[in-house]
Amino acid sequence: MSPMSAALSTETIFDADLVRRYDRPGPRYTSYPTAVQFHAGFGAADYEAAARASNGPGAKPLSIYMHVPFCESPCFYCGCNKIITRDHGRARPYLDHLKLEIERQGALFDRGRLVDQLHFGGGTPTFLSDAELAEVLEHVGRHFTLRSDPDREYSIEIDPRTVSVARLDVLSKLGLNRVSLGVQDFDPEVQDAVNRVQSVEDTLALIRRARELPIDSVSIDLIYGLPRQSRASFAKTLDIVIAARPDRIAAYSYAHLPHLFKPQRQIKQADLITPAEKLGLLGLTVETLTGAGYVYIGMDHFALPTDELVRAQADGTLQRNFQGYSTRAECDLVALGVSSISKVGDTYAQNSKALPEYYKRINDGGLAIERGVKLDAEDRLRRDVIQQLMCATRLDFAGIDRRHGIRFEEHFAAELERLKPLEADDLVRQEGRALRITARGRLLMRNVAMVFDAHLPKVAPVADQPRFSRVV
Ligand code: SF4
Repeated sequence: MSPMSAALSTETIFDADLVRRYDRPGPRYTSYPTAVQFHAGFGAADYEAAARASNGPGAKPLSIYMHVPFCESPCFYCGCNKIITRDHGRARPYLDHLKLEIERQGALFDRGRLVDQLHFGGGTPTFLSDAELAEVLEHVGRHFTLRSDPDREYSIEIDPRTVSVARLDVLSKLGLNRVSLGVQDFDPEVQDAVNRVQSVEDTLALIRRARELPIDSVSIDLIYGLPRQSRASFAKTLDIVIAARPDRIAAYSYAHLPHLFKPQRQIKQADLITPAEKLGLLGLTVETLTGAGYVYIGMDHFALPTDELVRAQADGTLQRNFQGYSTRAECDLVALGVSSISKVGDTYAQNSKALPEYYKRINDGGLAIERGVKLDAEDRLRRDVIQQLMCATRLDFAGIDRRHGIRFEEHFAAELERLKPLEADDLVRQEGRALRITARGRLLMRNVAMVFDAHLPKVAPVADQPRFSRVV
């Protein structure tokens, strides 16, 4: 096999022993540096300067993320930043503040910059009524330049428990052409243990209807490692999902950290499964999905070979971002709403995580940015390296040399030395002036990326650093 054809191989091998040995906490690299490095010394003025500098000739298109923090009831496994309430009246003040933020952010960017991507995330975005979602989209369209052609990627996370088939039609008419459905597990026992009961029929009806609408992509979220899960029960869930043939499937690992996430304290100890059972579920998931024709992209994400993520991985335009993997690596990301994180130019900027503080900052007349980071040349170089490994699964030294004015082998001599045990375990191979993540290493790609993370030794001096999740 030539190095190039090897680079395009998407084969993934689940090696239980290797996964067990490399199962340690580490960043998911939805950003580099990771959010742990964000600091309060970076504020709204720094972000505004980066936003204005990103305009002008050659300006990138935009990607907009809007966060809706409300959920009607807590799923016990959840580690998200959300607000549990059945009071839909709470949406009104939130939207009023969000609209002010949209206006102020919109004023920073040239109107010639098209919004290629737009995503409603949460929490539960469908907590908002159809009229409220329409109102937000209309307001975004007034302050940014939205696209209406089929090339736009405008998506929303859907809670099938609260979205009817009729409602899906409305979302499609609003211009949203991609949906992501939370499923986690169809087994009634598991659903009961995690306080998230949703029927198979309702979920499948939504997928069927999405196929009839101009909705280009359907994505399903699953979680392995949940209480009361078994190989047999999760195999059934996987079979149902595969039969529905969503374009993308994300299968996340459940991390039981009740000291960090209050809702997890509701999970009964006796219902938890063992680490060995959880490892078995990962193996089952990888083997079942790849056996059914899905390609493992990396970091819990699978996609059909026809999906843009697979094409983007092959042609080098795949990127990691706060939603996982995404195409359109070239966009500047403008994030709106409580706790959301923007990525504009060489900066990351995060809004206040608490709602009262978010409201206060908006009421004070500015943006809601609480902290962030401006990348220096070394951060940009390492971000490029980590992005190549996590997205293309291949790192071409000459490309890095050219883009960053270094000689890879000299700059990263210590890192190449630290990679040797990983090479000995066949997670990664050096082929001439390139590194390639192997079929065995694809499930452990972040262990390879961690070798190039200059910040990690400072924030994770011990193996059991709890602020990062584990591999399994
Ligand atoms: S999993 Fe989703 S719907 Fe459930 S509580 Fe968390 S954010 Fe809300």
